[in-house]
Amino acid sequence: MTYKRKKYHRGDTHLKKGWRTKRRTKDLDEIDEDLKEEKARNLLNQEVDFDKPGAAQHYCVHCARYFINNTALHAHFNTKVHKRRMKALELEPYSIEESERAAGKGNYIAPQKRKIETVTRENLNKKDNMDVEPDAKVMKISE
Ligand SMILES: [Zn+2]
Repeated sequence: MTYKRKKYHRGDTHLKKGWRTKRRTKDLDEIDEDLKEEKARNLLNQEVDFDKPGAAQHYCVHCARYFINNTALHAHFNTKVHKRRMKALELEPYSIEESERAAGKGNYIAPQKRKIETVTRENLNKKDNMDVEPDAKVMKISE
């Protein structure tokens, strides 16, 4: 007779992964806040901090992670984790307003999909040089 060994105990590592705080970074809604241009600018131009990887000079806003140099940062932009994060950020974060709409206050508007582009220091600088005038127009309209 063969001794049948079956796995009865599944453990709870898959649950514990969610509770771990060692590698915990920001939540998606916090990152959504950080993606606003002014905040992103501050995050991408942080002061030199030798306690952070790469002295806090190479930061990915979308993943809330520091990288040791520009090469590592750009290599990261092409990785699966980063692309998955971009995809996750495409959908607007869940808000109290949305829950109220869903509960019958006002009209329900489904969360919107947005186009997310990787924010880098170079991109922001390029933007600064390119559209000085369109920005001025926006200011006029809002006044
Ligand atoms: Zn990233």
